[in-house]
Amino acid sequence: MDAALIDALALAVHGDLQPDCTLLLDLPVSVGLARARTRPGASADRFEAETVGFFEKVRAGYLALARREPQRFRSSMPQRPWPRSSSASLRPRGAATAGAAGVSSPEEAAMRALPLAGGATPVPPWTAAQRVTLTAAFRAGRLPHALLIHEAPGAGGEWLATWAAQLVLCRQNSAQAPCGACTACRRVWAQQHPDLTWLRTAEDSQQIRIEQVRDLAADLALTSHAGGYKVGIVTPAEALNRFAANALLKTLEEPPSRTLLVLVTTQPSRLPPTVLSRCQRLRVGAPARAEGVAWLTALRGSGDWNAALDVLGEAPMLAARAEPLELAQTAADARGTLDALASGSADR
Ligand SMILES: [Zn+2]
Repeated sequence: MDAALIDALALAVHGDLQPDCTLLLDLPVSVGLARARTRPGASADRFEAETVGFFEKVRAGYLALARREPQRFRSSMPQRPWPRSSSASLRPRGAATAGAAGVSSPEEAAMRALPLAGGATPVPPWTAAQRVTLTAAFRAGRLPHALLIHEAPGAGGEWLATWAAQLVLCRQNSAQAPCGACTACRRVWAQQHPDLTWLRTAEDSQQIRIEQVRDLAADLALTSHAGGYKVGIVTPAEALNRFAANALLKTLEEPPSRTLLVLVTTQPSRLPPTVLSRCQRLRVGAPARAEGVAWLTALRGSGDWNAALDVLGEAPMLAARAEPLELAQTAADARGTLDALASGSADR
C-alpha cells in the first residue's frame, strides 16, 4: 500500500477538508492487534480481521506520508525503526522450527528467545503459583493433558507454556525438572525439540487453520523421539478458526497418552465452550509494577523500565524487547504534541 493509495483514501474520507494536523501514534502491529484483542466483549471487526501483512503495509504507508509532510503529520514514532532488542541477553531464534508451526513475526521470535529458567536468567516471579501447581501435578502423575493459559497481554503466557514443555521434556528426574540446563530443556527453549510443536498463525494470516491442527494431531499421534511426552503449544489460541477449533477438539477428547497440549490466549471467551471445558485453566495476570520493573532490570540491566511500562501497560514481556529510552521518548513526544495542540501553539 503506497502513500498515493492512502492519499486517495484520505480524500474519500475527508473530502475537500484537509486536516492541519494528523497525529500518528505508531505501534508495532503485533502490539496494536494484541491490544485490540483485549477490548472487552468485542470481536474483531472487518478491518481487524485483515492479515498482519496488510497492517504492515498500512503502517509503512503512513510512515512514508509522515516523512513526506512532516509539518502536517505529528508522529510519535521513534526516530529509528521500532527496536527489536539490542540486548546481548536476547538470542536469535533457532533456525529449525517444527513443521506444523506457523511463521511468526520477529517481535514474537525475540520474545521467545528470552532466556529461561536456570542459570543466571530471571524467572518471572509472578508465575510462581502457576509453576507450583504444574510441578505438583506433574510429580504426582496428575498433569492434565490440556492446559489453557489465560494471560494478560504481555504477561508471559508463552513463557509459562515453554516452561511447562520443559517440565515434561526435561531429562532430569521429575523432582528436579525443569532443570533449564539439560539438552532437552535447551532444545525446548531454542524451539528445536523434536517432541514439541508450536502452532502459530501463518505469516500471511491472523488465523490458525484446520490443516495446521491436523498436522499437529498427526504429530502428537507419533511415538515421541525421547520416549516421553509429546507437547503442542497453540498460541494465540483465539486465532483458531471455527474449523480448526473443531479439529482440535478431537485431540482434546481423545488425547494420545503422554500428551500435553497448551493453549495460550488473552481472550478465552473467543474459544468454543467445548474446547474450554476440556482444558485446565491457568491465569497469568499482569504483575505489579514493581515486580515487572525488577524483572526487566534483572533481565536487561538498568533503564527507565517504569516509563517503558507507562507506555506499554503492565506487559513486561513486550517491554523486554524494547528500548526504554526510545519508548520514553515516544511517550514524551506524544504528550508534547497533545499539549501543544491543547494550548494552540502547534505549528501550522
Ligand atoms: Zn532439563
